[in-house]
Amino acid sequence: MRENVYFIEASDNERDEILCDKLRDLIQAEDLLGFVADKDIAALKTHFGESLKLGYPRPLYLKMLGEEVKNKGGAPFLTETSTLYKGKRDNAIKHIAHAHSQGFDFASTGMPIIMADGLFGDEEYDVSIKGKRYQSVHIAALFAKCNALVVVSHFTGHLAAGFGATLKNLGMGCASRKGKMEQHSTAKPKIVKKNCTGCGICAKWCPRDAITLVDERAVINAKECIGCGECLAMCRFDAVKFNWGATYEDLQKKVVEHAMGVCSLFQGKSLFVNIVTRISKDCDCMGHTYEKIAPDVGILVSRDPVAVDVASLDLVEKRAGKVLSQLAYDIPYRVQLDYSKELHFGNPDYELITF
Ligand code: SF4
Ligand code: SF4
Repeated sequence: MRENVYFIEASDNERDEILCDKLRDLIQAEDLLGFVADKDIAALKTHFGESLKLGYPRPLYLKMLGEEVKNKGGAPFLTETSTLYKGKRDNAIKHIAHAHSQGFDFASTGMPIIMADGLFGDEEYDVSIKGKRYQSVHIAALFAKCNALVVVSHFTGHLAAGFGATLKNLGMGCASRKGKMEQHSTAKPKIVKKNCTGCGICAKWCPRDAITLVDERAVINAKECIGCGECLAMCRFDAVKFNWGATYEDLQKKVVEHAMGVCSLFQGKSLFVNIVTRISKDCDCMGHTYEKIAPDVGILVSRDPVAVDVASLDLVEKRAGKVLSQLAYDIPYRVQLDYSKELHFGNPDYELITF
């Protein structure tokens, strides 16, 4: 059986206000948030972007979705998780301040921001799955306590995953720091000696006592290290580095298994929205580049996280007249979709319903 994917077609550079009005009309006409029950706590997961120049989902979409959740009697909030790498979003304080500066403040969206993985990204909940790599995955703790989930993703190219949209936002974006570490790298951290002040904070927090101070510099015992990333999160001096070089295939498969874990918490209680405009070669985490690689496509919505990504990818390639590897990075990018099918997660067969 095919999964419905609703499509709001955009002309190139169509204004977000117009697309957002159409999205509201679609959600009401098809009752796409009908699964939200009275008093449901609803997490609205998105990505606040790295700078105002990039194509992250604009706040007005979240505001509208929050209003529609409230109309159903639900209590919505915006949520995100901390990044592994240092920057504007590596802990809750910085991340929320950054989100406010991007326009996601309460006055603009009508919702608070509550980080799903706590102050430092380490509040997690282990979800049992029937994966091929994992029997359980580390998901940001807050998701386990919510009743409904709406994921708003921006479709982009991606250096390692080929493309990022709903599956990546679920798998990587909803994982705790440990879950992200699992996906990104099997490598162990290294200390950049010239940055290390010898403050010892990393050693204090290392769960394996794998860090000692030698000559006032941190030294990691690789045999004891479990790659949890605690030292990376706690070091304020950019002295801990990881090699993120997991293989493309490995990364995509791990993303899918984590996405499967998140979705298992919200059976029949989730909605996935892909904003397929301002499509860039790199994901919205990359603050330094913005290269539009394809004409705007529009907005796709589904109750199925795999169907919405397959349909989005198909439409991007159709509209651009090229396959994604010609538009962005020349790597196998359908691994995530094929692997979802192999795990019987989601449905890659879709019925496109133009609204
Ligand atoms: S927290 Fe950072 S600066 Fe402090 S000892 Fe550890 S690596 Fe060095
Ligand atoms: S990654 Fe975790 S286990 Fe390894 S040194 Fe850092 S804090 Fe310790």
